[in-house]
Amino acid sequence: MTPSPLAELDSQKAALLRSIAALSTLDALRESEPTITGKRSILSSLQKSLGSLEPEARRDAGAQLQEARREVEDALLRRREELAHAQRAESLGADRLDLGDVVVSAVRVPVSMGHPNLVASTQRELEDVFVGMGFTVADGPEVESDWYNFEALNIPPAHPARGLWDTFYVDLGEPETVVLRTHTSPTQIHLMETAVANNSLPIHSVMPGRCHRRDTPDSSHLPTFHQIEGLVVDRGITFADLAGVIETFTKSYFGADIAARLRPGYFPFTEPSAEFEITCTICRGEGCRTCSQTGWLELGGSGMLDPAVFDAVGIDGNEWSGFAFGFGIDRCAQMRYQVGDMRALIENDTRFLRQFS
Ligand SMILES: [Zn+2]
Repeated sequence: MTPSPLAELDSQKAALLRSIAALSTLDALRESEPTITGKRSILSSLQKSLGSLEPEARRDAGAQLQEARREVEDALLRRREELAHAQRAESLGADRLDLGDVVVSAVRVPVSMGHPNLVASTQRELEDVFVGMGFTVADGPEVESDWYNFEALNIPPAHPARGLWDTFYVDLGEPETVVLRTHTSPTQIHLMETAVANNSLPIHSVMPGRCHRRDTPDSSHLPTFHQIEGLVVDRGITFADLAGVIETFTKSYFGADIAARLRPGYFPFTEPSAEFEITCTICRGEGCRTCSQTGWLELGGSGMLDPAVFDAVGIDGNEWSGFAFGFGIDRCAQMRYQVGDMRALIENDTRFLRQFS
């Protein structure tokens, strides 16, 4: 009987594992690889020698050799990782740039930083202007009950003003009607209720935020848009205060050559109500296509708080009076930056946004 070609396998394997452990660089490992596991390795020549065995013996020896090969290949893989790790640590150490307390150990690939969305930056600018005029900034929920979105604002069920807004209703399986707010006005109700509960009137606040209406997007409408509203409740507030705040805001935000004007309007929650227009920002009042040759652009609505709203929140209209105003932040950004199509504001195309850096 001829001796098995694998008689020396254990000691041959041990020798291979020792030689792998002795490899000290990745280059040495690459050079030795063919003689450890490759075509020129002892493992490969043992494999060839199995061809002379009887089928049954060949199968057993093959499995034995396969096991030994797997062990050697695993050891080689681990050694490669160890050496790669060591080499990286060494090169980081060599490239280390010592700047006193600051140590630069790796160079980062530059990352594009993007640009704030125009609506977000416009909102911040508007908040800054109003804070400069003495207003605080208030926040409110985007999902509201029918009471806050409509009824407390003097818009009872079946009131024709509800037809002005195609509303998104939220089905929470509750008896109460819940909607995505169609305007930021519900925050006014929250503010007044809180002020009454805490006995903390007066109020001088602006409330920016996201609103939703079932609009089809076009160049001047988005189903999700942003408003900012202002609310003043104090003693002795008159329509002149409202006109003064709007005029001051317009000049501070759009520039000294842009004026504001009020003309009669209708809103359920204010009485009297006024729409406010500003000098066309495109033609500066000369008359152009955007302003239909009038020299004026409509920006928002305003008015003195309706007594019915005071009643809803429990404020004594004999002691307090106030006004509210509001306008679209998206529309404001569109006017300020002369963006033809409002949809560009939400596409977040950085090529568009970079123009405003
Ligand atoms: Zn114009």
